[in-house]
Amino acid sequence: MTVKENSIETLNTIKDGVTLIGVSKTKPVEMIKEAFDGGIRNFGENKVQDLIAKMDILKDYPIKWHFIGHLQKNKVKYLVDRECLIHSIDSVDLVREIEKKYGNKGRSCRGLIQINIGREESKFGVLKEDLYDIIEEVEKSEFIKIEGLMAILPKENEEILRKYFKDMKNTFDKLSKESFKNIDMKFLSMGMTNDYLYAMDEGSNMVRVGRKIFGER
Ligand SMILES: *Cc1c(COP(=O)(O)O)cnc(C)c1O
Repeated sequence: MTVKENSIETLNTIKDGVTLIGVSKTKPVEMIKEAFDGGIRNFGENKVQDLIAKMDILKDYPIKWHFIGHLQKNKVKYLVDRECLIHSIDSVDLVREIEKKYGNKGRSCRGLIQINIGREESKFGVLKEDLYDIIEEVEKSEFIKIEGLMAILPKENEEILRKYFKDMKNTFDKLSKESFKNIDMKFLSMGMTNDYLYAMDEGSNMVRVGRKIFGER
């Protein structure tokens, strides 16, 4: 199967109203072009340098870009002039740095808050009970717009995965009903190659699929 065929096949499994992000990390731009030919319009990268390089090469393609990796504070400055959705806003410090760097240029940053739903020590993301610390900081900001939530789940069986996805959906729905400055709950980004079908079942509206489209890394 080619990347184009994989893309068409994967798109056929995506429910109405769900955005498929092709996770092209470590893969060459030729493969992104193939996936684009197969109909994918959203792509995600997890390293700032790779994202920028690929954006530049593919600047004539009407692609929507996503930054899905952990964002170090010293890399924020490279994203200020770029049109992308940052999925990994995960600390008050990072919110402050974004506010400062984007504010310097009068630009607005679009992001999702990453939740460490499996409470894994090795993983990034905010714990659910600390979510309101970030929300409070975002409400004080002028240059950040939060558009939803993101999670990376632990490697678990279907039953446990569904429990985490439900937990995320409940949190998403709860925040959607409240009214916060600079926060508009549009996207619930969860689900990868192994579990995106469960994620969509449980209410994800943005899935991030790499290996199923581009092959093993
Ligand atoms: C690599 C990655 C994915 C895609 O994972 P696959 O198993 O290849 O589908 C999704 N989200 C994030 C944050 C990733 O780093």
